[in-house]
Amino acid sequence: MTILDGKKVSSEIKLQVIKEIKVLKKKTGKVPGLSVVIVGENKASKVYVKSKDKMASELGIKSNVIEFDENISSVELIKKIKELNEDGEVNGVLVQLPLPKKFNTWEVLTNINPDKDVDCFLPTNLGMILLNRANIFPCTPAGILKIFDYYNINVSGMNACVIGRSFIVGKPIAAMLTNRNATVTICHSKTKNLADHLKRADLIVSAIGKPGFISEDMVKQGSVLIDVGINYIIKKDDVYEHCDELQIKKFERKGYAITGDIHKNAYKKSLYYTPVPGGVGPMTVTMLMYNTLQLFKKKQDLLK
Ligand code: NAD
Repeated sequence: MTILDGKKVSSEIKLQVIKEIKVLKKKTGKVPGLSVVIVGENKASKVYVKSKDKMASELGIKSNVIEFDENISSVELIKKIKELNEDGEVNGVLVQLPLPKKFNTWEVLTNINPDKDVDCFLPTNLGMILLNRANIFPCTPAGILKIFDYYNINVSGMNACVIGRSFIVGKPIAAMLTNRNATVTICHSKTKNLADHLKRADLIVSAIGKPGFISEDMVKQGSVLIDVGINYIIKKDDVYEHCDELQIKKFERKGYAITGDIHKNAYKKSLYYTPVPGGVGPMTVTMLMYNTLQLFKKKQDLLK
């Protein structure tokens, strides 16, 4: 079994992005711009936004975080998005989700100009994936394909089982694997006999959000296991359930551990697997930067 090291792949992509931005800056006098809009006080969202802002600055992307109080109206929020749509220095506009409950998320998101839809959440951009004509992809699925490319994993002809049908991970990765000629089954909370589907799968992509849910007996010997799930585990009866030593060591001082959907005992049956943390997770923010660069290049008419 080989560990698919998302940190390593992500570092390589970041270096490429830095290099390319330097060259483009010389050529055009401009750098890519990313605007992140956050509304309210969701602590986890604030942490994510901070890490996006930090990485953008490190890579040479001009980053701009716009924070709003929860009391802002939908009209004011949409007005700001429209301003960003018009701003020539902004290539990517991201609205951090979840928005506070009073907002209609789709009404807000669909006001982003599709050419600046850096998260690739809008119908036109998701539709292009179905048509196999896309040049931008949602960050987490895009990160998974970059991992495949880095490790030369060819999914063509594989039986792939995607668990989860969110528009952020499950549905787009299913379409993207189909475009790479995998035979894809999408499973979800209403799927009957999930284990039967999984046991036939050469490749499993799990995006559920249930710690250790996929057990050793559910996976085929020699399969590829991609774990998107991020689950925060708090100590119960003095143990962190489902977590191995490394997972515990990394975060214990913060009072929790992080683990994925796939039980650690299943790893030994795999040919390749992504650990949690350190697998798919590090790819997501990196691919946001990569997408910002792609949108910049598209605007400058520099896409190959
Ligand atoms: P979600 O949270 O919107 O939905 C969960 C999905 O799991 C649903 O489609 C549901 O049908 C399915 N599901 C729930 N119970 C199930 C069961 N018993 N059997 C089969 N399917 C079941 O999905 P999401 O937003 O894609 O997030 C899924 C997980 O991935 C979460 O843990 C989230 O934190 C994580 N995530 C990680 C990254 C990353 O960068 N690594 C990015 C996005 C999401």
